[in-house]
Amino acid sequence: MQHTESPEIEQPTPTMHMPKDEPNLPEGETEVETRDWKAAVLRGLRLRCPSCGEGKLLHSYLKVRHSCDHCGQELFHNRADDGPAYLTILIVGHILGFALHITFVLYRPDPLVLALIMSAVTIGTSLWLLPRMKGLVVAYQWAKRMHGF
Ligand SMILES: [Zn+2]
Repeated sequence: MQHTESPEIEQPTPTMHMPKDEPNLPEGETEVETRDWKAAVLRGLRLRCPSCGEGKLLHSYLKVRHSCDHCGQELFHNRADDGPAYLTILIVGHILGFALHITFVLYRPDPLVLALIMSAVTIGTSLWLLPRMKGLVVAYQWAKRMHGF
């Protein structure tokens, strides 16, 4: 059986698309301003409010504040979930994995000493990076207006 296209089906043409200058919004909704995600992510990495960059984003290590102390931006909409932990493992694993191999090949330390040092560096780096990755994820969600931001 041979498949042929039906001549009745109209193929999309460029003239059928919406013009770029007209926003394709549902009736009654106004266009919302776009947020600069790069600036927001940099603020999040500094553990600051993604909106103003002044107020603190977190309290008690990893808990996101209900709202910004400085500008009042609601921050409870975030749904970071496992994203910060995943990013932390991704980054620390790549850096320390290569460092482990390079250190062992170049310096041939005692394996127990190397394991203890690398474990301490891994734990320290992960604990330092985890809140910053949470700030990054929350800031990106804010910038892209995800989850009610
Ligand atoms: Zn703020």
